[in-house]
Amino acid sequence: MDFELSEEHKLLRKTVRKFAEETIRPVAEKYDEEAKYPYEIVEEAKKLGLIAPAIPEKYGGAGMDFLAQAIVIEELFRGDPGIGLAISARIFGSDMLLEFGTEEQKQKYLVPVAKGDKVMGAAITEPEAGSDVAGMKTRAERQGDYYVLNGTKTFITNGTIADFLIVFARTNFNPPERHMGITAFIVETDREGFIAEPIKKKMGIRASDLAEITLKDVKVPAENVVGQEGMAFYHLMQFFARGRVAVAAQAVGIAQGAFDEAFKYAQERQQFGRPIADFQAIQFKLADMATAIEAARLLTYKAAWLISQGGNPAKEASMAKLYASKVAREVANEALQIHGGYGFIKEYPVERFYRDAKITELYEGTSEIQRLIIARALLGKI
Ligand SMILES: Cc1cc2nc3c(=O)[nH]c(=O)nc-3n(C[C@H](O)[C@H](O)[C@H](O)COP(=O)(O)OP(=O)(O)OC[C@H]3O[C@@H](n4cnc5c(N)ncnc54)[C@H](O)[C@@H]3O)c2cc1C
Repeated sequence: MDFELSEEHKLLRKTVRKFAEETIRPVAEKYDEEAKYPYEIVEEAKKLGLIAPAIPEKYGGAGMDFLAQAIVIEELFRGDPGIGLAISARIFGSDMLLEFGTEEQKQKYLVPVAKGDKVMGAAITEPEAGSDVAGMKTRAERQGDYYVLNGTKTFITNGTIADFLIVFARTNFNPPERHMGITAFIVETDREGFIAEPIKKKMGIRASDLAEITLKDVKVPAENVVGQEGMAFYHLMQFFARGRVAVAAQAVGIAQGAFDEAFKYAQERQQFGRPIADFQAIQFKLADMATAIEAARLLTYKAAWLISQGGNPAKEASMAKLYASKVAREVANEALQIHGGYGFIKEYPVERFYRDAKITELYEGTSEIQRLIIARALLGKI
């Protein structure tokens, strides 16, 4: 792999960095405090074409490669993780449409999302089925030209603001193998029986939207099925690599954002008559942090580059996510430590990075699940 970014990638990075510094960072504290979705900032991101970097132009996106998408995510999260997620997750679940949707579904649903005019999400997790996706209980029963959906989904990003969700539900209740029998549906959020309850009391990424979804006899036309009936678990597995590299890029951005704050503070804060950056203990922290971030970035870029080449690198994506999310948590912790007591006060952005870092070890598969995937890949079991 050529580790030198192309001129286009460098220009993109510069543009997004400027946007993050000038437009996102100044309002980050307010949106975090109020746990409010940043519609105004999203409008600005839309103008710069940052909603769907890697969706082809013919479907409303910017038509860049997946490495470009990783760079956009990294820089947005470096500005602020909550607002970064609010912007970058508006297309969450779009891979399902892009890969398995009919041309009609792509035109009707994918295009307005990629253009930033509509919002989507993916509803997989249930109160009793998180890591064990195949354990889901939401049911979809066929009645003529419709399916009737019943069940509860939880932790659904964009749940209260989405125009539609890709909902995963069981259509075969007695399959030969437990991963079979799950089907994906496009469910418009204004359908009767669709209820979204906001989950507001989040530890971090508070500017992004999260909800619990209840489906009560929600009627969905058969034409809203995405992909092959009963095969949605396998469809989903094809995209997890992309989602995981996206989260790895989030983690790199968070780590870099926290580092930037600590680096600046260490040179400004005076103790014992000199900047604390003069103390070797602080210098060693900064050196370790910068090294870990660079390693996480290289793992992430490599996995993103493999996807850009048309690959589906399950092992590399899990390695990037596992490592980068650990680095995000550890670097944010050290960055806060360098701030001393001031790091514990909300006025300093480092406190937000510290809270925001944790989510990267949880969603798109926890760190334990990433280890399972890496181990299985090493043993030749996937
Ligand atoms: C802010 C946020 C946003 C999210 N957005 C979405 C979304 O948009 N759509 C969606 O569908 N979901 C979403 N999720 C859900 C997220 O993907 C799940 O929370 C995650 O997959 C873990 O599931 P769980 O919370 O049920 O934990 P559990 O699966 O109950 O895990 C609990 C603990 O047990 C461990 N564990 C579980 N199984 C194993 C095993 N086999 N081996 C070893 N350890 C194991 C886990 O690693 C974890 O430490 C979101 C979650 C959050 C918090």
